[in-house]
Amino acid sequence: MHPAEAGKPLIKFNHCKKYIYSFSVPQCCPLCQQVMGSRKLEEAPVSISNPFTNGHQEQCSFLLRPTQGTFLREYDGRSDLHVGITNTNGVVYNYTAHGVRRDEAGWEQSVSIPLVQPGMFGLMGQWDKYLEEFSASGAWLPQRYEEDHHNCYSYTLTFINCVLTAEGKGQLDKREFTEKYVVPRTRKASEYITLYRAVEGRGFYVTDRPEEATDPPEGGGVC
Ligand SMILES: [Zn+2]
Repeated sequence: MHPAEAGKPLIKFNHCKKYIYSFSVPQCCPLCQQVMGSRKLEEAPVSISNPFTNGHQEQCSFLLRPTQGTFLREYDGRSDLHVGITNTNGVVYNYTAHGVRRDEAGWEQSVSIPLVQPGMFGLMGQWDKYLEEFSASGAWLPQRYEEDHHNCYSYTLTFINCVLTAEGKGQLDKREFTEKYVVPRTRKASEYITLYRAVEGRGFYVTDRPEEATDPPEGGGVC
């Protein structure tokens, strides 16, 4: 990934009974101005996990990114989002007013949701064929595109449901998919964006209380 797309890594350290976030450990604490020389374990910086991944390095995943620009630079919480699905080579299939696109670039800073459980080699082996056949269907011609009802989201969700059916599993409706898989990740992304921009603006950001690990477990696929 291009460094500008990835953003700078964020770290967090303890000082003055606060959590201080920054891009690197400063020589002096920005709150008390004391030299940060101490090697106390509890003051050791930890890195903050970045919620964005290079979608072109993800296999069989649902991806989400701003329609225009990137999350870290342009996203304002209300910007339009665009979604797609990767094949096993990181090509992102996505439906637009111009029909189904097969992007080999442009999804370098995405929120990614894996669709296939680890070890499902049978499904992975068929994935590219399924995705290509599905995309060739007349339902996804450019003239069928409708911004509100027959869009990138319908395309991805219909595909996911086709796979679920082929695997003998129940369907997911849009609300269920959004609440269960999308919202937890976009929430985490929004928090990260807020933090990132605060650090970018002032050089550091301070919080009172520890952020406990309340993230939902990751790694499970949808299908
Ligand atoms: Zn301090």
